[in-house]
Amino acid sequence: MRKVICTEDKHLTDNSSLGMNTQITHRVFGRNTPEAVNSANAEMERLEKIMSRYIPESEISLINQFSGIKPVKVCDEVYRVLSYANELSGICDGLFDVTIGPLVDLWNYKHAPGVPEEADISQALSLVGYCDLLLNPSVGTAGLGKQGQSIDLGGVGKGFASDRIIEIFKCYDIVSAFTNIGGNVSALGNKPDGTPWMVGIRHPRQEGCLLGAVPVTGRSVVTSGDYERYFIDREGVRRHHILSPVTGYPAQAGLISATVISDSAMLADALSTLAFVSGLERGAGFIKRFPGTEAIMVDEHQQIYITHGLKGCFQPAVHISTKII
Ligand code: ADP
Ligand code: MG
Repeated sequence: MRKVICTEDKHLTDNSSLGMNTQITHRVFGRNTPEAVNSANAEMERLEKIMSRYIPESEISLINQFSGIKPVKVCDEVYRVLSYANELSGICDGLFDVTIGPLVDLWNYKHAPGVPEEADISQALSLVGYCDLLLNPSVGTAGLGKQGQSIDLGGVGKGFASDRIIEIFKCYDIVSAFTNIGGNVSALGNKPDGTPWMVGIRHPRQEGCLLGAVPVTGRSVVTSGDYERYFIDREGVRRHHILSPVTGYPAQAGLISATVISDSAMLADALSTLAFVSGLERGAGFIKRFPGTEAIMVDEHQQIYITHGLKGCFQPAVHISTKII
């Protein structure tokens, strides 16, 4: 699947591939671009091998396998993602929670015939709890307190990978690039012409349309929405992949899309998932706790809200009106 296209401009490398269960595109300008892209792709594969719960030998799979039995030694990176996630869980009372694994398994979108049984939801819910994720910094181990618990980094892993890729590009002296991992966009510097990268925000209900675009210089833009992975149940309710650790059901907090813009892709990834689960007011409250972080949220009436810092900066599409939150 990996393909490096060197265009006539020898200093531009465009690269698209599949990884982390999603489409990945890099656009890189400067010298050493093919090497930088190859190195970024290798890094993606390496990270997936340690962080995917769907690869049986990954460190995350080992933690899950030994849940309720013993903690396992993990590398620095896995330790960092887990402690970062747990810190965020502490701030939001577990609305964002990487121990969501058992619920993710239950609401399996690819094979979902319908809504799971109430009893199964309660059972899975009883296994979700970030306080059971035991991290020991002195020995670098991570473990889960109860048997059957499992970690799923779906809400934060792509952000972590994006940050790493930007670091790699920097190591190759690249000053202008962007990477898009399944809608997680991270920019390095500006476009080669010196103007900011323009990142389009998808309209959550009009396929192929944008809500608008946001200019970014060296920042990340990450969206969580209910429009990509979902099924419609017998009652006509949209059942998507962002789950509430309170109800055990796909979150219905009044939002259909939440985009977060931040210097850190990992933070933007986690916060966009959290905002989606929390709803407009509460989500905006969490975002405000992280200075320099901005958001674009869309409620179920398709009203678009932007944070103060995006006033005069977010460029709405024609017919799109925004309110400030
Ligand atoms: P996407 O991965 O589609 O870009 P998100 O970043 O919002 O979207 O992540 C959704 C994924 O995060 C789910 O597929 C699941 O793996 C995981 N997840 C679902 N609900 C939660 C939650 N409340 N807290 C943390 N992770 C979650
Ligand atoms: Mg996320």
